[in-house]
Amino acid sequence: MNYYSTNQQAPLAGLHKAVVKGLAEDRGLYMPERIKTLPKAFFDHIDQLSFQELSYQVADAFFGEDVEADALRQIVYDTLSFDCPVVKVTDDIWSLELFHGPTLAFKDVGARFMARLLQYFIRQEGKELVNVLVATSGDTGSAVANGFLGVEGIHVYVLYPKGKVSRIQESQFTTLGQNITAIEVDGVFDDCQTLVKNAFMDAELNAKMRLTSANSINVARFLPQAFYYFNAYARMKGQGLLSYDDAGRSNLVVCVPSGNFGNITAGLFGQQMGLPVKRFIAANNANDIFYQYLQSGQYDPKPSKQTLANAMDVGDPSNFARVYDLYGGSHERICAHISGATYSDEQIMAAMRECHAQTGYILDPHGACGYQALVEGLQPGEIGVFCETAHPAKFKEKTDAIIGGDVEIPARLAKFMEGEKKSVPMSKEFEDFKAFLLKE
Ligand SMILES: *Cc1c(COP(=O)(O)O)cnc(C)c1O
Repeated sequence: MNYYSTNQQAPLAGLHKAVVKGLAEDRGLYMPERIKTLPKAFFDHIDQLSFQELSYQVADAFFGEDVEADALRQIVYDTLSFDCPVVKVTDDIWSLELFHGPTLAFKDVGARFMARLLQYFIRQEGKELVNVLVATSGDTGSAVANGFLGVEGIHVYVLYPKGKVSRIQESQFTTLGQNITAIEVDGVFDDCQTLVKNAFMDAELNAKMRLTSANSINVARFLPQAFYYFNAYARMKGQGLLSYDDAGRSNLVVCVPSGNFGNITAGLFGQQMGLPVKRFIAANNANDIFYQYLQSGQYDPKPSKQTLANAMDVGDPSNFARVYDLYGGSHERICAHISGATYSDEQIMAAMRECHAQTGYILDPHGACGYQALVEGLQPGEIGVFCETAHPAKFKEKTDAIIGGDVEIPARLAKFMEGEKKSVPMSKEFEDFKAFLLKE
């Protein structure tokens, strides 16, 4: 299958090129040329399939032309070594828990899939080591590092700003060893990003080593996020929770706490493949660019504001280009599929407190936006699922203070924190970083 750029100015790319390059030459985002609809029989019997098996069938629709069936099945099964269950919060609000992976956030799914697909292409070529460079302000680095951990043929360099990431976050990429090198840059996040960008543009470096990024806009990180929406539907159907109107539409509403809009866009792709979701809600924190777009039809990016749900602090969501393209640039069509919500930090805290008091369920600040949007937005007869995008223990101090409790730290998170930190100190000068890479 070919991929085109949302900017329409770059040549079509095959999957291999789209994955290795990430961004098209015209700086647009890659979109698959076709979105295949899955057969009715698949949806009729989906509740009898395991998460891994139904995900393989979804993956086959996107990647089946480019990856051999056995290899693709292996990639999907390896990626999904953990569950993404739906858990009841109230009678009509369910949580799609996406935090059961190694770093306790949904980005694990995409990062693990991308690492394995990249490895498949490298093996096919029989080529030398590929080096993944990633700049992080916290969570992306841990998902990418853990996604690629132990994957042969790939070395990952995670660049992060010294003293600017939480201890929990830092431990998730500095204690791994093996094929992961953490680089502690004496600067801010933008300095890390500049070092990575300069490396990709440096002719000498690129002649001597193969460099690639694992950006969240990469099709191999973004599309696999569709898997768990199909799983949510399957598990809810299996429990007899859904109903259908005469046109066969279900009453399922899916709500996604959104920042860069990659996660929700994968769900929208699922709906285009025939997944019977009635409608989507994009829940924003105070960074409400998309919410404002829905109201006005004007897309007006702004500098991001710092909030309690900081993984959603995005002032110019990159995947807006994909949403726009998916619906042919029509504001009306976008509004017909997605509605919006936006919450201040005070409202997020109130949602966390009220949900905990009324149901006993502990939300993280991101999931809280999703939950609250369902509390306020569900119509009679609808049933809602929100993505719980991270485990509340990742934000333990804040969460404990807000709900007045003591969130239990899962064993796999505690293990990171016990590990020994190893990192390479680095100045923010490109010449130093380059010299280091060339010596490696
Ligand atoms: C990345 C992230 C989000 C936002 O997801 P997008 O795909 O960027 O919209 C929400 N919650 C958490 C916990 C995240 O890490």
